[in-house]
Parts: sequence; structure tokens; C-alpha cells
Amino acid sequence: MRVAIAGFQHETNSFAKVSASLPKWIEAGILHGDEIVNEYKESKATIAGILSRLATESDIELVPLVFSRLMPMGNITAEAITHLIDEIVLLVREQGPWDIVFLAQHGAAVSELYADTDGEVAARVRAIVGPDCIIVTNLDMHANVSRKVVANSDIVKVYQTNPHLDTFERAYESADLAIRFYNGEIRPTSYLATPPLVANILKQGTDDRPMSDLLEFAKTELNNPSVLSVSVVEGYPYSDVPQMGMTFLAITDNDADLAKTVANRIAMRAWDLREALNGVATSTDLALTEAAANPERPVVLFDVGDNVGAGTPGDSTFVLHASRRLGITGLLQALCDPTVVAQCIALGVGAKIDAEVGGKADEMHGDPFHISGVISAITDGKYAETKPSHGGFLFYNDGPSVAIKTDDGNSILLTSLPAMSSSILQFRNAGLEPLDHKIIVTKGVHSPRAAYEPIAKKMYWLDTAGASTAALENFAYSHRRVPMYPFEEDTTWVLED
Ligand SMILES: [Zn+2]
Repeated sequence: MRVAIAGFQHETNSFAKVSASLPKWIEAGILHGDEIVNEYKESKATIAGILSRLATESDIELVPLVFSRLMPMGNITAEAITHLIDEIVLLVREQGPWDIVFLAQHGAAVSELYADTDGEVAARVRAIVGPDCIIVTNLDMHANVSRKVVANSDIVKVYQTNPHLDTFERAYESADLAIRFYNGEIRPTSYLATPPLVANILKQGTDDRPMSDLLEFAKTELNNPSVLSVSVVEGYPYSDVPQMGMTFLAITDNDADLAKTVANRIAMRAWDLREALNGVATSTDLALTEAAANPERPVVLFDVGDNVGAGTPGDSTFVLHASRRLGITGLLQALCDPTVVAQCIALGVGAKIDAEVGGKADEMHGDPFHISGVISAITDGKYAETKPSHGGFLFYNDGPSVAIKTDDGNSILLTSLPAMSSSILQFRNAGLEPLDHKIIVTKGVHSPRAAYEPIAKKMYWLDTAGASTAALENFAYSHRRVPMYPFEEDTTWVLED
């Protein structure tokens, strides 16, 4: 059995200003061959799950071809997407033939050339390997799944937790289905239901209702032994494409009618929950005021508008400005500002720094924020999180970073790269103890939860502006479907025949 692994993962925020250019992909690392195995085999990410299942088989020739992953940001440029897809196509063609090809994608990639970039990849690979090769596409729960992806894949598997803690398990299952299909034990048959429905990012936590109820309902479909897999896909509302929205995928053993019935049944349950799947965030001023008055600490605030995991610059200053206006201090937060990091590194630990930080990447994330204080630590911004974390990743790199204790009682971690808040080690690595702070500001909605929920005395999701704001009505979509709930409130959905 000859098996290939290839792919590139991008969650494209159409409203973010920084493009996913080829230099950015190269800087993030385009891995080949053993580099892929070495990077991921000890992780809990998708490729680890695939490798783990394949390792239980004898007589497999596994060929990792090419894989890359870039932080969410704006559209993938024409140059970058041509490079990424051409390389996959070339390697799949030159090193074939294959029995199974795994495409470890994300599912919400948008490029200047293809609105449905993930569908394009699956179609191009299918065109080379032909109908008899098994194609498995692995996707993130934030995928905007298109019919093209499903039509050109034999098996599509999607994480079912957000924060994403089951990446390994779902990938393992996808490989298991592929091997059973190869051995002639099953014949996977898929159906994708695509109601005109968006779930607000605030309602995408899978431990919270109504999403937890919906997933529970979907799981009951697996009681039917003919149902091989069901996926509830939350979708990614910041991609301005026709396939944007929630989708529901069922895979049965050679029963197209059953796949359709199951996918539609779960989709209809979600449609019935559509009001509960939408909602509004908390006022930043209110959250700060309540956090300051809370006798316990820390209180964790989620800066929804600057959700780095959703493609924002990580330098939003709205919360800092609001706290100063309200006279509230004791905040701990990371902020991307490579220029001031370089200044601080030149000054050294223990030096005084007076600077305007953050609010520089674009016009959407607030004005620079003035700080004066003492540089308490300088680090390379690299840390490894071995506890369960969003996406199952092990290695983090925020770029050279400096910790600053400000004269007014805040702790600011300046990073050189936009930094997610997936691990508490981000701060501890720089000598900042989250438990010692009154208020922790995280850059994310769900990705910080695995790290911060265990220590938070209370959590607030903020109504901050920015390229990932919860207020979807503030975005000027050009390509989404119309009508669509909640944008057009009286949208109706009738099942297709
Ligand atoms: Zn995701």
C-alpha cells in the first residue's frame, strides 16, 4: 500500500489586511519528507493521528510529500497559492502511483485565484490519481466545506471539538476508514448538507450549549452501524465566500440515501437552534469594571475582535485604552510590536522603556498605547506546551519577546509575531505569572480556553472591534450566500429533494 501525505493549512480572514504571501509561507516553513514526520509525530495534530494509525499496519510505504501551515491572516496571494498547489500536484504526480492520499487541509482557505481553495486542491489531486485512489481530506471544525471538497474526496473528517482537542483522534479515524476501504470492508458514501446558516464565533464552544447539544444529537446517528462518520462543521464567518457557513457531513457504508437523511437531520436540528447559535458579546467597559470589582483573581477577558487565531495582528489596544480611561490596572496581556521589542532588546533587562506600543499593524485595531516601565525579561518567544491545547500543537513561536512591568501596574508581553493565547507558558516563559494578575487579556475566543479556563475565576467575551469582531453585521460581504441567517433574519430553509 503506497500512501502519500500532503497539504497546507490556512484559515483565511477575508477582512484582515495582511495577505498570506509566499514569503510568509516560506518563513513559517514549507516542510518536506522526514521534516514533516519529525515536526508532528510527537504532537496531537492531524498528521500525528494519521501516522499513528498507519503505524499499526505492515506493508505500508508512507511518503510524506509536502506540508505547511500558516497563521490565519488575509487572502493567500496568487503567487503563494500557485506555488503551494503546484508543488503538491508535482509531487503527487512524480512520486505516484498511490493507493491513499491524505490531504491535511484546514478547509477555510481563500486565495486570490480560488474562492474555494481547498476544493481546488482536492480536485487537482483527484485529476492526477484517478477515481480508484482513496483521497482523505482532513479539515478543521472552522472549515467552510464545499461540495467540491466532498465530491473529490472519498473520506472527509472534521474535528468535533472547539477548542480543537480531538485533532489526533479524528485523523486517526480518517486513516482507519481509509484502510478499511482499501481492504474492501466498507464503501464510504458522503452527503453534505449546507443550510444558509452562520454560527456566531461566540457560540462555537463545543462544551457550551447549544453546540454541545447539537454534537450530542449528531453522535446518536452513529448508533446505526451503516453510518461511518458524522461531522458538524461550525464554519468560519470571516471568509467572504459562497461556501461560508455551517455544514453537516454524513458518511455511510454505500448508502447514499441514508447519508443524505442523516446529514439533513443534523442540519435541521442546527437550523432549529439558529437563534441560540447567534448572540452578542459583553461590553468591554462592563467586563473591565466587573473584573476590577471581583474579589478573586484572575478574571480572564477574551479580546474577540483581535482573535489572532482568526487572522488578526495581535496588536489591538482597545482593552488597554479602555482600562486606562476607567482607571483600572493589574492587567496582563501580550501585544505584538516587533519595533519596540527590538528597542527593548537593545536596551537590555532592567532598563527603563518609554514607548507607544501596539495599534500599528492596520487601521482596525486601535491606536498605539503609551507605556513606561521596566524591562523584566527578554526571551526568544519559543515554548513547548505538552498539555492539551488548541489544535494539538506542541511548539509555539511568538518571535523574540520582552516582558515589561509598567509603572501603572500592568504587565505587557511584547512579541515580534502575532501571538495566540493557547498556552500559559507564553507568559511564564517570560517570568510573568498569570495567577498573580487581576485581569488577563487573551487574544482569542476559544483557543485560549484550554489554557485559561482552569485558572479563571470568571470569563468575559468582549465586544471589541477588529477583523474578528463578533458583530458580523459590521462586515461588508460581497460573496456570501443571500439570504442567510442571521444576516437576513427571515431566511427560510427548505430541504432539497
Ligand atoms: Zn479552527
